[in-house]
Amino acid sequence: MTKTDRAPSRAQAQFLTVLSREEAAARFAAALRPAPLRRVSLPLAEALGRPLAEDVRAAVDAPPFDRSGVDGFAVRAADLADASEAAPVTLLLNDEVIACGVAPTIAVAPGSATPIATGGPIPRGADAVVMIEHTGPVETPGGPGVAVRRAPNPGQFVAFAGSDIARGETLLRAGTVIGAREIGMLAAVGIAEVAVFDRPRVAVLSTGDELVAPGTPLGPAQIYDSNGPVVAAAIAENGGAPVAYGAVPDDEAALEAALRRAHAECDMVVLSGGTSKGAGDLTYRIVGRLGAPGIVAHGVALKPGKPLCLAVCDGKAVVVLPGFPTSAMFTFHDMIAPVLRALAGLPPRAEGTVSARVPVRIASELGRTEYVMSALVQGADGLVAYPTGKGSGSVTSFSQADGFLAIEALADALPAGAEVPVRLLTPQVRVPDLVIAGSHCTGLDAVIARLPGLTARVIAVGSLGGLAAAKRGECDLAPIHLLDPKSGTYNTPFLAPGLTLVPGWRRMQGVVFRRGDARFEGRDARAAIAAAKADPSCLMVGRNQGAGTRILLDGLLAGARPDGYWNQPRSHNAVAAAVAQGRADWGLAIAPVAEAYGLGFLPLSEEQYDFALVETRRDRPGVAAFLAALAAPETMRALAALGFTPAPRS
Ligand code: AMP
Ligand code: MG
Repeated sequence: MTKTDRAPSRAQAQFLTVLSREEAAARFAAALRPAPLRRVSLPLAEALGRPLAEDVRAAVDAPPFDRSGVDGFAVRAADLADASEAAPVTLLLNDEVIACGVAPTIAVAPGSATPIATGGPIPRGADAVVMIEHTGPVETPGGPGVAVRRAPNPGQFVAFAGSDIARGETLLRAGTVIGAREIGMLAAVGIAEVAVFDRPRVAVLSTGDELVAPGTPLGPAQIYDSNGPVVAAAIAENGGAPVAYGAVPDDEAALEAALRRAHAECDMVVLSGGTSKGAGDLTYRIVGRLGAPGIVAHGVALKPGKPLCLAVCDGKAVVVLPGFPTSAMFTFHDMIAPVLRALAGLPPRAEGTVSARVPVRIASELGRTEYVMSALVQGADGLVAYPTGKGSGSVTSFSQADGFLAIEALADALPAGAEVPVRLLTPQVRVPDLVIAGSHCTGLDAVIARLPGLTARVIAVGSLGGLAAAKRGECDLAPIHLLDPKSGTYNTPFLAPGLTLVPGWRRMQGVVFRRGDARFEGRDARAAIAAAKADPSCLMVGRNQGAGTRILLDGLLAGARPDGYWNQPRSHNAVAAAVAQGRADWGLAIAPVAEAYGLGFLPLSEEQYDFALVETRRDRPGVAAFLAALAAPETMRALAALGFTPAPRS
């Protein structure tokens, strides 16, 4: 091979100038100089959550006049200097009652008092208020009077004008984000409209021939555009006004037209997708043509998120997020949200950091700072950060994370047990009331649905992962379905000291096939498998090592490896999807999943899905509630309706 043979292609050349995260952010900021865009005047009711564009001064005092803080009598304190329980002092009542909203007309002369309500204006001459509780009515020769049993200090129960807010005082400073309290202050000084920074209008586009808007049915090979809605929501969360432009095919003319329109109509453009090599060329070429200076960073040394592209075109930020949902969400959060907040006039997001231990070794790519989305649970001694990663193609690894931890570019792994800082995605961590780590089953949802008011976190780490977490005391319960091939029994042989088995339910496993397939329809499961094994046109789908269903499958195949055996997905659902879509003709899955996919089903044997309970956690309220819900007759009925057989209870 000569040197020129190895010259990078145009598409690969795109990634040759991979920048560090800091360098990319610095170049973006230098080209954009993000600052609030415009100011608008808004009625108070619409100003919630907006940053003030200028200082607000009070034009009036609050309260606007001296007013009474209690129901009682406006008096002159000097008249009552000698009043006591034993020797009350009698005052003559003036002929008016000062209610709220009533301006006094009679001055309080020495020896007199005026009845006054809370909030009523203090009349001329009075300098204190006595509570009605410390008085009693009396008749005096001069007319109705009041006997006062306490000596007030001057100023008692008088709220003086301007004591709350003084006229001319700076009430709120520019940049303050308006919340309910600020609205209260503004209304108290009579302000009906405030100048706030306008929300930047941010165009949201997705690109991909495979994308379909949520709400419409999926065709073959199509996926829902999840980035569009999630990016729009993240924009709104960070002070922007998202403008949806939908999903555009990977077509140069269509994409260019959409991007030009979005760039002309909005303050900023966020596109996701079109970042894989080849297709990527197209997106970047178009972005490069939108205006000067164009692309300032393309390829950032972070994972997820390497294909991130940052551009500034005619003063407007244009961003291409990676198509993979977790990459898109993470890069938005990390690199784009701070810029958007600056454009919106909002302060940087207050992000907390907590320290947590990683329960498993996490491998990492050398040369890129890797961010690992993590869910936090309470371990025996401190927080534990569970990676939620199912790869950057997953939507849930970001959505179910409480925060993320970083693995430095120069490390190839984070060892199990390492204590690391976790940057929170939300201002505070809410440790769940119940942590279930292990194998997921749709039946689990039927139990959790019966735990009102409790937050349960389910971490799908498979049966063995769940058992390991339970042994380390990092979860309350581990749902498992592990067959011990030697004894032929489920689950019990796998328990360790400190773990108790709580019976769950039975799941019928069997052969799944497309309805009407004569090779399976109406036949006995074992006979059908024997025939399928011998038929080279009959394609199967296998299961991953470690799955209970895999052990059953291997037993049935008795060493045979029919075509399709090495296609080994990790779940019952994936097996059913492969058969339903014609990628395979048969496989093993559980009955409720066959039903959900509209597949035929030939029963084979029941699998036991039980819970390994961490004994020391049995009395926690969340665990006790779960165990009660599991045993409740309604739960049993719900499980049966889903196709599960609740286990007999001792
Ligand atoms: P791309 O950057 O276009 O090469 O996309 C990388 C991966 O992300 C592919 O699997 C795409 O199908 C997926 N993807 C791209 N855009 C979206 C989107 N808007 N919503 C969900 N997945 C997407
Ligand atoms: Mg694409």
